[in-house]
Amino acid sequence: MKYLDEFHDPKLVQVLVKKVQDLLGREFSLMEVCGTHAVGIFRYGIRDLFPETLRLLSGPGCPVCVTPAEEIDAAILLSREPGVILTTFGDMIKVPGSQSSLEMARVDGADVRVVYSALDALKIAETNPLKKVVFFGVGFETTSPSIASVISTAKRREIKNFWIYSCHKLIPPAMRGLLEMGEVKIEGFICPGHVSTIIGSLPYEFISKDFGVPCVISGFEPLDILQSIYMLIRQIQEGRTEVEIQYRRSVKLEGNKKALSKLYEIFTIADSKWRGIGLVPYSGLKIKDDYRDFDARTSFSIAWPEVSEERAGCICGQILRGISIPHDCPLFGRRCLPEDPVGPCMVSSEGACATYYKYAKWKA
Ligand code: SF4
Repeated sequence: MKYLDEFHDPKLVQVLVKKVQDLLGREFSLMEVCGTHAVGIFRYGIRDLFPETLRLLSGPGCPVCVTPAEEIDAAILLSREPGVILTTFGDMIKVPGSQSSLEMARVDGADVRVVYSALDALKIAETNPLKKVVFFGVGFETTSPSIASVISTAKRREIKNFWIYSCHKLIPPAMRGLLEMGEVKIEGFICPGHVSTIIGSLPYEFISKDFGVPCVISGFEPLDILQSIYMLIRQIQEGRTEVEIQYRRSVKLEGNKKALSKLYEIFTIADSKWRGIGLVPYSGLKIKDDYRDFDARTSFSIAWPEVSEERAGCICGQILRGISIPHDCPLFGRRCLPEDPVGPCMVSSEGACATYYKYAKWKA
């Protein structure tokens, strides 16, 4: 199958593996920022191809996982408001807040509905004019332009019963946050190909210039990931700190200008709280005042929680910062299972705990 088989070619895989192995004279610590890369690395057995001197750390690139408990708690409060239909993506209804989840709120009588897109939520609003339809939106730069487009459509159609509870986040500022914390040695970043298709490569430049950490924007097939690892290790060995694009078939220097233009027509950049990292300056998206009629944050008078407790024993925060792995959690595979998750990293299929559980349950 064109564009798929050619990125799985076993002969090319062997060539690249040998090239990486030949460069591994010492320990290297690389972080795959995004959950899709973490899944690919496990699914294709990439870790097993190299000695333990190549450390591949999982980062904060799972939007479900990094949504903090207070944002989940707020969504639960919104779902309990009179006349509200709370809509969101499937994973989000299972993610535990401090006390409950949207799934439990639904059991208690709240009208919580799973949708595949914000546009589906808008359709629910149009067909239920007497209800207040709120879309609880999480995600990174990949999904937020489509949310912006839906807000634009809602305004054009003069829909009065539709709001977005925006918990959208931006990836590069979170990478800065991790580097500033300095808790974990990161010598190179495997940057997310889908996010970078929207934002381009320029927003990562500060990482190489200010922190001296190389970046390679990677695709998601086995050869993409292997080539990205090779490119990063070469940069480190040659003393270069650059932002390189491996995923050239999708990513351009300046990104997708049309998508970015739509995004920043509707949203402005704001500080945002991340699970495990805390408040990260300029890492979130806030709906602009011109579109405030669609902003749940300014339109609903709930007691917006500022700080919520994480679940006892859950170390998702440490995992998202790359300082722990799921096997370090005493609840992993015992009290916390995909069918009965304690923390968000076990809920999302791109969460580190769910990935380890599926592919490396017994490997410490
Ligand atoms: Fe949290 Fe469960 Fe992962 Fe432990 S195994 S860190 S409780 S999600």
